[in-house]
Amino acid sequence: MTTLFLRDLNKKFGDNLVVNNVNLDVQDQDFIVLLGPSGCGKTTILRMIAGLEKVTSGEIILDGEVINRVPPQRRDMAMVFQNYALYAHLKIFDNLAFGLRMRKTPKDEIEKRVKDVAEMLHIDLLLDRIPRQLSGGERQRVALGRAIVREPRLFLMDEPLSNLDALLRVQTRVEILQLCRRIGATVLYVTHDQTEAMTMGQRIVLLRKGVVQQIDTAEGLYNKPANRFVGHFVGSPPMNFLEDVILSHENDRWSVKSQDFSLDLSGYENAAKIKQAPELVSRSVVVGFRPDAVKFISSDEPEEGIPASVEVVEVLGREALVYCDIGQQLICAVVPPQQTPRTGEKIVIGVDASKLHLFDSESGKNIAVLTDTSP
Ligand code: ATP
Repeated sequence: MTTLFLRDLNKKFGDNLVVNNVNLDVQDQDFIVLLGPSGCGKTTILRMIAGLEKVTSGEIILDGEVINRVPPQRRDMAMVFQNYALYAHLKIFDNLAFGLRMRKTPKDEIEKRVKDVAEMLHIDLLLDRIPRQLSGGERQRVALGRAIVREPRLFLMDEPLSNLDALLRVQTRVEILQLCRRIGATVLYVTHDQTEAMTMGQRIVLLRKGVVQQIDTAEGLYNKPANRFVGHFVGSPPMNFLEDVILSHENDRWSVKSQDFSLDLSGYENAAKIKQAPELVSRSVVVGFRPDAVKFISSDEPEEGIPASVEVVEVLGREALVYCDIGQQLICAVVPPQQTPRTGEKIVIGVDASKLHLFDSESGKNIAVLTDTSP
């Protein structure tokens, strides 16, 4: 049973705070993904956990023990990197056996473990080769195998798929997941690729500039983003945003208004929450909605929707992306190709109110989170 807790973890390089008060609970057999743009501190967090980087403040607690000062070789963790870091002159068998020999594991035990893992990873016929005689995907599997034979308490994987081509990435992604489930591994996995994070992570830790933005399932990040950054970072094409919008409450009706449009909020998922927050009236907000929440409606009923003009249409086969201008703000709609309007056409778009998100203009926080009074 492995547990890992990060408590108020901070890391400074000089005056630069690159990991800012990170808290995280990892339970046994969790597959947790650290996601975020380049430079947000993902690798630094992993390296602190591995013991390769000193902690500035806070605690790393492994199985109930604070391990901040425990040297890396005594942490019983295995790291898998983007560059496989295999020993170029050693045969695959010896690459796999290396860590076990260092630990003075008995010879027949090494034989058995290496063979088992090689079979599991379908590299058992490659054991006599050296790394340069392997493809990228095979080398990646050897790197994984080298971690697995050690049977560590925790796997730390840092962008292990980024050297593979697109097709192999998808295939290896599935293999890693299946394998980790089969051996009951507890994994912390770093990526900047949101698709990889969304498909692999049981839970995803989304970071920005060293600060955790949200820890959630893929579904939670997509449907209930804690702030505007999360809405933008997760989902492709990204969430649409409309600025300069005011929350309005008139004649017992809540709506959002700008000089270009008005949208009724009775179908808004958090309508009950905003009703109980009179301080929100006249608040400046940013309206967010995903491209799949947009529909084109009849221009006979313009008061129901938002007037827009079609700027660019991209037909992708199964769906089309339609970029529309709304009062000089560009939004994207995903629609079936047969519903595609023409470039330059004046249309009216509707947004499913149940899929609307409202973000505070200043802090970027989701209004639903701001008004959340539940513990
Ligand atoms: P990427 O996805 O590009 O690998 P990341 O999220 O893993 O990025 P880190 O490698 O953790 O980011 O780096 C976080 C910040 O810390 C960056 O601004 C980086 O320049 C800085 N940094 C990392 N290592 C050092 C170091 N040894 N000395 C000084 N600054 C560092």
